[in-house]
Amino acid sequence: MVSRVIPVQPFDLVIFGGTGDLARRKILPALFRRFCAGQMAEDARVIGAARGDMNAAGYRGFARDAITEFDGDITMMEAHLARFLEQVDYVTLDAAGDVGWPELAAKLTGADHTRAFYFSVGPALFGPLATRLYDHGLASPGCRIVVEKPFGRDLASARKLNAVLAEHFDETQIYRIDHYLGKETVQNLMAIRFANTLFEPLWNSQYVDHMQITVAESGGVGTRGGYYDKSGAMRDMMQNHIMQLLCLTAMEPPAKYDPDSVRDEKLKVIRALDPVEPGDVVRGQYESTDTLPGYRNEVENRDTTTESFVALKARIGNWRWAGTPFYLRTGKRLRARASEIAVVFKDAPHSIFGADAGRHRNILTIRLQPNEGIEMGVTIKEPGPGGMRLVDVPLDMTFSEALGPQSEDIPDAYERLIMDVIRGDQTLFMRGDEVEAAWAWTDPIIEGWEAAGTQPELYSTGSSGPDDALALIHRDGRRWREIKP
Ligand code: NAD
Repeated sequence: MVSRVIPVQPFDLVIFGGTGDLARRKILPALFRRFCAGQMAEDARVIGAARGDMNAAGYRGFARDAITEFDGDITMMEAHLARFLEQVDYVTLDAAGDVGWPELAAKLTGADHTRAFYFSVGPALFGPLATRLYDHGLASPGCRIVVEKPFGRDLASARKLNAVLAEHFDETQIYRIDHYLGKETVQNLMAIRFANTLFEPLWNSQYVDHMQITVAESGGVGTRGGYYDKSGAMRDMMQNHIMQLLCLTAMEPPAKYDPDSVRDEKLKVIRALDPVEPGDVVRGQYESTDTLPGYRNEVENRDTTTESFVALKARIGNWRWAGTPFYLRTGKRLRARASEIAVVFKDAPHSIFGADAGRHRNILTIRLQPNEGIEMGVTIKEPGPGGMRLVDVPLDMTFSEALGPQSEDIPDAYERLIMDVIRGDQTLFMRGDEVEAAWAWTDPIIEGWEAAGTQPELYSTGSSGPDDALALIHRDGRRWREIKP
């Protein structure tokens, strides 16, 4: 069913937190899809490990339900599913105690299998898990650990976590996951920039007026309110996902597409970021509507000052980007679920068509969701008689249309990233120093809010965010791109 699949070596993948929400919605369905694609060797094994008292048969039932629920119609794949489940096992284990570890050790196969441990548990257990793995002799030199977000909640905690992991694992064994990096379009951003000669000469402050990165969600915090209220948009989205998009958009061409060359260049971008002026950042909280609860009701905390929206103007102090602002925004309960990077080029230096032709700009849009794809806005003559009137039209390349049936085989982010872990490719994972540098940039913003004791600005559900976020860009004579599905 899939072309050009590169098989991976046999592996034992242990999912700590194997009965949790992430395992159910993302990890197990992703593994099943890779199995169907022929990427999982017959003796590869997936071992769920969690606190819950369950046997292997019970866990196979759990995995079957998860895959059936999140993988759409799998009636045609029933035989595949039965075979996949034969490769699934379970062990009851305490990540912070000693229960279950000898049983886990007994289930792991020999050195011919790549060993990967997925930390899909709460962040408080990341450190204890690393230590237990070492204490029980499972931290073999070739093994890998996959660490979920959040990686710390500030620079100090991220440093501490990096130090705990480094006690038992080399940096080459640590895979800090940011699923945005597994998205097809995000990797395409690198292909567009560095495999074409068309864009790179223009990719600088001489030709780019500004950049906009938007990650908009239409839903609220839902059942994740308890977690989210301790985090907020800055920690949950800006410090990691948006920062990664910013890095890939702004970085210099790496000498090679290999993990450290790419990550060295991303790190340079983060380190070149100027501190954000207090007037250049806006935070908001969504209000209740007639039918939907507001942020405060949803998180059941009337006094919370946690932001469900943040917009800011970032500046990168280097030769390439001095003078080109990067406007970044993310939030919940906005007009639509839409994420994109927009490269807004400068106006033509002189219009030979006169003032009546209007102001027209080239905008390159990289859409992350929905409908992953790339769109280049070009200005052409409006058809028909009656003089030279100009109009902007898109040169659209929606992947699903451009690539035809092949696009249906595009793996989702978790599929790609888990297989990269097994292959030992860290290019799309964050290095420890990158994470720390990102916190070093976001910490002062959060501390500034805390010190000022101000409230986030309220915004309406279905809007583009608070009014001050509009003002943030309007005062520079620019405007946000419309958030549309
Ligand atoms: P969850 O609460 O649904 O599941 C937690 C899992 O950990 C369960 O399997 C539970 O049995 C297990 N567990 C808890 N304490 C344990 C212990 N002492 N020993 C062994 N197992 C223990 O959490 P989740 O939503 O699946 O999230 C897991 C991790 O992934 C978290 O770090 C979270 O921040 C991150 N994450 C989750 C999502 C998501 O969509 N759910 C998205 C991104 C990142």
